Amino acid sequence: MFTLEDDGNSDMLKPETQAPAIPAMLPSADAYVFDIDGTLLVTKDLVHWNALRRAMLEVYEVDGTIAGIQYHGKTDLSILRSALVRTGLSHKQFEDGLPQALDVVRREVERNHRSIEATTCPGIVQLVGLLRSSQKLLGVASGNLERVGWRKVEAAGLDGFFSFGCFSDYCETRSAIFRNAVAYVAEKCGADARVCFIGDTPADVEAARDSRASVVAVASGVFSVEELRACSPDLCLSCCEQLFKRPRA
Ligand SMILES: [Mg+2]
Repeated sequence: MFTLEDDGNSDMLKPETQAPAIPAMLPSADAYVFDIDGTLLVTKDLVHWNALRRAMLEVYEVDGTIAGIQYHGKTDLSILRSALVRTGLSHKQFEDGLPQALDVVRREVERNHRSIEATTCPGIVQLVGLLRSSQKLLGVASGNLERVGWRKVEAAGLDGFFSFGCFSDYCETRSAIFRNAVAYVAEKCGADARVCFIGDTPADVEAARDSRASVVAVASGVFSVEELRACSPDLCLSCCEQLFKRPRA
């Protein structure tokens, strides 16, 4: 939009507002797809953790825990599988109870979602706001179940920024979730649409590569910049806030 200058002697047109530019270091893409835990936000509560535990107890009669499992970057399905088979449950027993177990996780998180304490990671609000105002398609791709993931996004005050989400309800691997996201973007924006994933684990980088997409790794979760850089993402940041800081002279 343009307005007339009001200095009384000029009819020059000048921009009334100028959309802030997308930081040049960010890979260029038509769609940006964010992981949730450790990327968009961090949670300080036990709502999700307790829901997984409740599912193990109620469906498999196992008083299990996900403690000790390297769950960062995993999906809910693979976390449950790892936690249960180490107690002696067979894969067949796990799979037979899985639909019911996932329902328990959804039910428990729905019941307790007001207790979710989620904080956005540094620079996220600025980044998603900028990308959205730049007409980019924004999505989430997470190892959470859909209902769980959206409740966390909501708890962080980020609902409304994203047009779509891909989750682990029917996918045990992160690569499958990311492929679903790429397929969705292709359907919406065309087969040539470029996708950039943003995630905080080596598993995000690997899954993005499996989908031939760009990927930004951010060390706002549990992995360090050095660990993430070793996976060769297109860009590696300490956190998304780094995108908005001027380089030191
Ligand atoms: Mg994560």
